[in-house]
Amino acid sequence: MKKIVLVLSAVALLAVGAYANDAKHEAAHEVHWNYDEHGPDHWGEFGETCQLGKTQSPINILSKQTSPFSTSNSLKLNENVKSKGSILDNGHAIQVNIDNGGTITVDGVEYKLLQFHFHGKSEEQIDGKHSDLVAHMVHKSAFGSLLVVAVLFDEGKTVNKMIQKTLDSVGKSTEINPADLLPKNTNSYYHFMGSLTTPPCSENVKWYVMKEVQSATKGQIEAMRKYYAKNYRPVQPLNGRVVESK
Ligand SMILES: [Zn+2]
Repeated sequence: MKKIVLVLSAVALLAVGAYANDAKHEAAHEVHWNYDEHGPDHWGEFGETCQLGKTQSPINILSKQTSPFSTSNSLKLNENVKSKGSILDNGHAIQVNIDNGGTITVDGVEYKLLQFHFHGKSEEQIDGKHSDLVAHMVHKSAFGSLLVVAVLFDEGKTVNKMIQKTLDSVGKSTEINPADLLPKNTNSYYHFMGSLTTPPCSENVKWYVMKEVQSATKGQIEAMRKYYAKNYRPVQPLNGRVVESK
């Protein structure tokens, strides 16, 4: 059976000789996910959880339909550290890799900050509305579980220092204090269980979305979007998940 298929494929290739070079070209380059022709609707081909998962991110947070906060989910932030940050274009987003990042402790488990990156519009919605940008701070525990803190940005008059530092240092390293990315009020947030928002869309990710929205200038938002403007995944079904509000 396999032989027949191979022979037929070979015949097909010969028959469409004009396209044979294209086919070879395609085979030589591994197809990669993106936000265009291999966009979110096709991500199941890159990680089946993207298509089959029932607790996917991002979500639309309905502020009037949240649940009371369980204290065991409270964040203990220890992000006020000085570290080397390497700022790079990862092909999907501008990302800052943190050498020796801070930590967040939840229910006795410590999660270390690995990197943060920016999306050209917030992936998460609050009451159906996107913010102009979002930073996702990706943390990992010693057991491999993931926790992401989302910081939303809307256009305003205040220049955001961390966004400026990031924009000024793409392709370079610089000293970074991750706490500079966080809002003043780090005690009010939404919490829910979700997934990575890019393939392989792995689940069991603890999500925290800070309620205090930060300001970035029009110029900063435009400068960030010059790299990636459409790198945000559409919101995913809640499927009965509970969103806690603190
Ligand atoms: Zn992200």
